[in-house]
Amino acid sequence: MDKPLIAATDPSLKKDDLIVITGAGGFIGGSLTHYFMAQGFIRLRAVDKKPLPDWFQRVPGVECLSMDLSEKGNCVRATEGAVEVYNLAADMGGMGFIERFRVECLRSILINTHMIEAAYRAGAKRYFYSSSACVYNVLLQQDPNVTALKESDAYPAMAERGYGWEKLISEMFCQEYWAERGLETHIARFHNVYGPNGTWFGGREKAPAALCRKVLEAQDMGKSEIEIWGDGSQTRSFCYIDDCTKGIDQIMHCNELIATPINLGSSELVSINELVSIIEGIAGVKLQRRYDLGAPKGVAGRNSDNTMIKRILGWEPDTPLREGLKKTYAWIAEQYAARKAGQRVVTDSW
Ligand code: NAD
Repeated sequence: MDKPLIAATDPSLKKDDLIVITGAGGFIGGSLTHYFMAQGFIRLRAVDKKPLPDWFQRVPGVECLSMDLSEKGNCVRATEGAVEVYNLAADMGGMGFIERFRVECLRSILINTHMIEAAYRAGAKRYFYSSSACVYNVLLQQDPNVTALKESDAYPAMAERGYGWEKLISEMFCQEYWAERGLETHIARFHNVYGPNGTWFGGREKAPAALCRKVLEAQDMGKSEIEIWGDGSQTRSFCYIDDCTKGIDQIMHCNELIATPINLGSSELVSINELVSIIEGIAGVKLQRRYDLGAPKGVAGRNSDNTMIKRILGWEPDTPLREGLKKTYAWIAEQYAARKAGQRVVTDSW
C-alpha cells in the first residue's frame, strides 16, 4: 500500500516555506528537488558546486546556485531563510572512487560542518543528513551470507576507511547539534541507491549503472563478454530512487527519528552475479563473464536490516529490484544512444 507523502500533509510545513537541497546537481539531490516540486512546494533552492550546465537534472521554477559548500560563506548564503535543509552534497562515487580517493571523501566533512552550523544560525527548523551503509563496522561484512546490518552495528566503530568515517563523524555532528543546541536533525543511512538520472559512466558510477552500461556496450560492439569486478559472489541490496526520496521525506518528518540514524535501503539481497543475470534478462542477452579479481569490490556482503524502519514508519523500500532495474536500464540505453549521437548526457568525470 502506498504511504502518504508526508511533507505535503505536514501542517508544520507551508507550501511557501523555503526548502534547501544541496548536492542537487547530482543524482539523489536532483531527484529530491523533483519530488518536492511535485508535491507543490513553491520555494525550493537547489545548490551544487558543479556549473549549472553539468547538473544531472534542472527543475523549472527552482532557484539554482552553483557554489562550493566546503566554504563557510557559501553555506551561509545557501541556508539564508531556510525552513528545511537537506544536505546531500558529498564527493562520492562507487567502490572504484571511494577506495582510491579517500582524501576527497574525507574532505566532505567540511560540507556538513559548515552546512549544519549555517542551518542552525539561519534558524532552520529541520536538517537532514545523507549518511551511508559505509558507516557500518567492516568486520561484520566479511561473509557474502550476511546478517543484515541493524542501526546499532555502527558501534564499536570500524567504518569504511575515508568515506565511511566521514559519514560517521558527520552523523555525530547531527546528534550533538540536537543534544546541545536543539537543532532538529534527521539522519538516513542509504544503502546503494540506483535509478534513472544517476552517474552511469566516467568512474563514479555504482554497480547497477555500470553493469547496465557494460551490457549495452557489449551489444553495441558485438562483444560476447562482460567484465565483473571481483568474483561476483559479493552480495548487496539496492534501493530504487523513488523509495529513497519517499523515505527521506518520511524520516525527516518523523518525531521519533530526531537525531537517530536509520537504515534507508532495500532488504532484497543479491550477489553481483545475480545482478548481472537480472540485467541480462532485461536486455535479452547472455554474456560470458570475465572476473577482474584485482578490481575494487568492497566488503564481501552487506544488507539492510529493516526492522527499525518497519516498526517506526510502517514501511520499507519495496520496489522489486527487477522492476527498478528495468527502468534504469531503459534510461541508460537512451543515454547511451544520445551519447553516441553526440548529444550531452549525464555524467561526472574526474
Ligand atoms: P552524486 O555524486 O550524484 O551527488 C552529490 C553531489 O554533491 C554532486 O552533484 C556534487 O557535485 C555535489 N558536491 C560535491 N562536493 C560539493 C561541494 N563542495 N559543494 C557543493 N556540492 C558538492 O551522489 P548521490 O548518489 O546523489 O549522493 C547523495 C548523497 O547520498 C551523498 O551524501 C552520498 O554520500 C549519499 N549516499 C549515496 C548513496 C548512493 O548509493 N547513491 C549511498 C550512500 C550514501
